[in-house]
Amino acid sequence: MPKDTLSPAQVREMLDLVADRVIAAEPALSEADRNLGDGDHGLGMQRGFTAAKEKLAALTGEETIDKIFSSVGMALISSMGGASGAIFGTLFRDGGKALAGQAAFDSAALATFLRAACDGVMARGKAKPGDKTMVDALHPAAAAKAQEVSSQPLADALSAVAAAAIAGKDTSSNMIATLGRAKSLGEGSLGHPDAGALSVTVIVGAMKDYVAAPNRGRYPSFLPRTPSGSC
Ligand code: ADP
Ligand code: MG
Repeated sequence: MPKDTLSPAQVREMLDLVADRVIAAEPALSEADRNLGDGDHGLGMQRGFTAAKEKLAALTGEETIDKIFSSVGMALISSMGGASGAIFGTLFRDGGKALAGQAAFDSAALATFLRAACDGVMARGKAKPGDKTMVDALHPAAAAKAQEVSSQPLADALSAVAAAAIAGKDTSSNMIATLGRAKSLGEGSLGHPDAGALSVTVIVGAMKDYVAAPNRGRYPSFLPRTPSGSC
């Protein structure tokens, strides 16, 4: 059954699935970066999300939703380095900070998260839509659907967000890079989607899939404790 509201434990599981999917996407992310950059994006993301999984596994289970998202962001920032460490770390850290005080993750929280994540990334990296970066997937996911998303059930909202991210990633193929390593290719950057935009589609796609079928049982300590016989 799809869920309309995720508990902190479920948010932790969702982010663990996000990390698994990003790690598994390494070959595709590396290839995308080989087409336009230096080919290291997949390995960088793999390193960052491996650190994020360790951080998630080390949480006590008492953390609030904002802290769970932010701790993923901090793990990416401290383990990845480079342009995308700061960029993807900021996505989770700033998006997470905006959820302070939220006891559950619902479609309104999703819209808040995406808006703050996009604002934070654009402030940090100074990329605008059209520069052929991950902003070209994140911005349409965050902004174009904001009104609609916050009033939809969470599963429908994430379907809309994931579709907008994919459409944005696809559109980035038709852009000439004006930032980052791909800038030096000029018109040679046409015809390939941006690697970071592909990462955004993997991230929101995993969130969508988790909400469609939550509770992987990854963290059994989150389940209600049953008395275990005598002591
Ligand atoms: P590097 O460019 O240092 O090799 P990566 O290959 O890991 O880092 O990441 C490249 C991706 O980072 C690009 O595909 C782009 O989406 C994203 N990126 C680079 N610079 C910026 C920026 N200023 N703002 C937003 N995203 C950026
Ligand atoms: Mg690179």
